[in-house]
Amino acid sequence: MGLLNRLVVGSAPLLPRFFIGRIAARYVAGDSLDDGLALVAHLNGQGFAGTLDILGEEVQETDATLRFRNTYLEALDGIANSGADCNVSLKLSALGLRIDPELCWNNLALILDRAREFDNFVRFDMEDSSITQATLDMCRRAREFYPQCGTVLQAYLHRTLDDARNLAGSGSNVRLCKGAYVEPGKIAYQGYQEVRDNFMATARQLLEQGSYPCFATHDLWLIEQCETLVAELGVAPDRYEFQALSGVPVEATLDRLVAAGHRVRYYIPFGPEWYAYSLRRMRENPAIWRHTVRAIFSRSRHRRR
Ligand SMILES: Cc1cc2nc3c(=O)[nH]c(=O)nc-3n(C[C@H](O)[C@H](O)[C@H](O)COP(=O)(O)OP(=O)(O)OC[C@H]3O[C@@H](n4cnc5c(N)ncnc54)[C@H](O)[C@@H]3O)c2cc1C
Repeated sequence: MGLLNRLVVGSAPLLPRFFIGRIAARYVAGDSLDDGLALVAHLNGQGFAGTLDILGEEVQETDATLRFRNTYLEALDGIANSGADCNVSLKLSALGLRIDPELCWNNLALILDRAREFDNFVRFDMEDSSITQATLDMCRRAREFYPQCGTVLQAYLHRTLDDARNLAGSGSNVRLCKGAYVEPGKIAYQGYQEVRDNFMATARQLLEQGSYPCFATHDLWLIEQCETLVAELGVAPDRYEFQALSGVPVEATLDRLVAAGHRVRYYIPFGPEWYAYSLRRMRENPAIWRHTVRAIFSRSRHRRR
């Protein structure tokens, strides 16, 4: 990381809220469900599917998990009422996984019940390695109850190829990403190309075992490799998808993918807790502040603000 980037990221919590707010405007649809649905409609109109994420994680109190659960129920209602091409992504820690797995399960079961009413899909985001196994276990339990759900594998973890094999089975739907947390060398690849190689090995495994993989990356090299792989294996375009975070400047590539007949889904976060999310995006990509400064002066067809 360059000195200037390190300086900006290190001092980010001290930056004026206005500046972080500019970052949030790039990555977050807005404070409310209506903001999220409006961005989904905007992107649906351009051929993209959506997945709505309500911002917030590491919930410590039972009441807060119930509020999260209720907001997801409202989101599923809102998606159904608006007829949007959109599902939901959630963090199990926000539903109480770290407080009590049964509390988490009870919240999740209600969300899955509501998703079932609308025949919609629910994705469990993957968090740090302290709850990888618990998330996979919860996913296995949930899929017995309602098969239209799935979780995420992180290519930086050594265990991921085995986890992919264990997730094989009818209707298995897995998002594959590099991984967003800082993990130690004894469990995670540290080299940039090593992570890419494990991403591609896992992508191949998922496709060959008949799972529905979602290639969640902005790495243009990986996107091209995935395009080549699906062509080589002759996989139909309704058997996989690409995914991207709303706001990451890869619009031209995503437009090209849609035009070429691939399914592309935007991950669209919304909610009042945009501050922590934006700081994380900034830590993930220190060069972001440059994009942000540029974004203040530019507009994208893929954003509303
Ligand atoms: C749809 C989706 C869902 C995800 N879900 C999870 C999850 O559940 N668990 C998890 O651990 N991680 C998740 N991630 C994050 C992921 O693990 C990576 O941390 C993140 O996508 C960056 O990796 P990359 O593959 O884009 O490659 P990189 O090599 O990091 O980035 C490729 C290019 O994109 C640019 N870029 C990447 N991120 C940003 C950004 N935020 N802003 C501006 N430019 C950026 C980089 O500058 C670089 O030019 C998700 C990512 C996506 C796209």
